[in-house]
Amino acid sequence: MRKPIIAGNWKMNMTPSEARKLVTELVPLVRDAACDVVVCTPAVDFAAVNEVIKGTNVKLGAENMHWEASGAFTGELSAAMLKESGVEYVILGHSERRQYFGETDATVNKRVLAAVKAGLTPIICVGEKKEDREAGYTNALVSYQTLIALSGLTADEVKRVVIAYEPVWAIGTGLTATDEQANETIGVIREAVRSVYGDAADDVRIQYGGSMKPANCKSLMAQPEIDGGLIGGASLKAEDFSKIVHFDA
Ligand code: PEP
Repeated sequence: MRKPIIAGNWKMNMTPSEARKLVTELVPLVRDAACDVVVCTPAVDFAAVNEVIKGTNVKLGAENMHWEASGAFTGELSAAMLKESGVEYVILGHSERRQYFGETDATVNKRVLAAVKAGLTPIICVGEKKEDREAGYTNALVSYQTLIALSGLTADEVKRVVIAYEPVWAIGTGLTATDEQANETIGVIREAVRSVYGDAADDVRIQYGGSMKPANCKSLMAQPEIDGGLIGGASLKAEDFSKIVHFDA
């Protein structure tokens, strides 16, 4: 059985004081959660968030990282910097990074390898654009994105990564993939993992992301292939995020 994982992606929101307030509200609301709970925050919020979540079931994630250990990469953060800041998870290959910052499948793979080597759990984002779905490329594209991202990992390492299937057309748009679409495409991703890593595919947790909210989380999470959610907008309100964490309530 795969333990569900609900992760918030705060994106470029929340100053440190706002972050402290949000997690202070969140912690008591999710204390008895049956799933893993993660907040992926801007790096400037790590210290404030850590003060509040220390010793609780809420874990800290970052929104990106560089693959090199150190050096002349102005503005970037290394895996060691994240680790020492109390980070356990890191979102990699988010579609906004691919779209606005030129990240490619090849650089996502470098980040994944560096994150796993450092003992961080990557949350690897894959997903198709609207035109890809309309052209019938979804399955091929998400399979390709997934296998490139994982390339170079062992089957044991693959078991520990988290993948987020995020159709680009559903992110921040209010449009959600239907339960069946999300389940089917996540099944395709799992079969792609199986084609290279065998039964390790059964341990990989694959989230759905794209306008998941309290109103639609229950039926999405009831789908057999969906092991969690990566939540953007709805993770910025403690009450909404906690309702998603308690999706089966
Ligand atoms: C995301 O950014 O990963 C995301 C799923 O955003 P939203 O929930 O706002 O669509």
